[in-house]
Amino acid sequence: MQELPSRVQIREVGPRDGFQNEPEVIPTAEKIRLIEMLGGTGLRRIEVTSFVRPDVIPQLADAEQVLDAVRLPQDVSASVLIPNERGLERALRYRGGFQEINGFLSASETHNRKNVGRPIEESLCGLERTFSSARSEGLRCEGVISVSFGCPYEGHVPVERVLAIACRLADAGAEEIGFGDTTGMANPVQVREFFASAFDALPGLELTAHFHNTRGQGLANVLAALEAGVRSFESSFGELGGCPVPPGATGNIATEDLVSMLHEMGIDTGIDLAALVEASRAAQAVLGRSLGSHVLTAGPVDWADH
Ligand code: ZN
Repeated sequence: MQELPSRVQIREVGPRDGFQNEPEVIPTAEKIRLIEMLGGTGLRRIEVTSFVRPDVIPQLADAEQVLDAVRLPQDVSASVLIPNERGLERALRYRGGFQEINGFLSASETHNRKNVGRPIEESLCGLERTFSSARSEGLRCEGVISVSFGCPYEGHVPVERVLAIACRLADAGAEEIGFGDTTGMANPVQVREFFASAFDALPGLELTAHFHNTRGQGLANVLAALEAGVRSFESSFGELGGCPVPPGATGNIATEDLVSMLHEMGIDTGIDLAALVEASRAAQAVLGRSLGSHVLTAGPVDWADH
């Protein structure tokens, strides 16, 4: 078990992972306003949108307009999700307002076929080409592996298979690998063992944990990941987001719940929790429904003597 760190990195994925999974299309101006609020919280990494096919995911059809108009502080690194080579072509045609791309695939054949309609090997070959073109344009690449900790269709996913995929992505130029617990199947013991193996297999690479709170174990898994040496996390303000397949696989961990826990533990994130709660409250107003975040409901911890 490792010493807890004094500081961790958080990438906010709500504007992509969250907005994509809303049944309604959020007006572009509202998206921009919410992203700019996030940019004002001290977050240094924000996944802003995705270059997916507009007919498949109309919720993010305004990627260019969002990137064009959104104003973020200089030290915020904006990333976009790239589903395939055609998505990268569109992103490079536009080429503005983002510094990182994030390419993804699943660790199980069934989830990959249901999510992107092709076998893992085909996705990997596509990502190798995507990363190579993106890097030649000076973009930083993150590879994200969905269902790394268990698949709703296939059950157990062997760690060796996940790490073999991660090695291919690293060889293709990924500087960071995100491991997604896409449908909330991971437990803390598994997470600790998983990351111990991952650090052995992928020395020198930034390894990021992307947990979902589907079964309420998200923050327990964060603690296990911290103890295994993970220093980079992805989460979503308000607890927005989920996964398109299977239906009902909702809930990234809420960024404000994550930030609250870390700050209470003495771990710095650089994020202003009150400003973050404001952003989630604004998202709640835009969506017209209560969001799942606990800190949004309870408010930040107040240690004042009464
Ligand atoms: Zn997610």
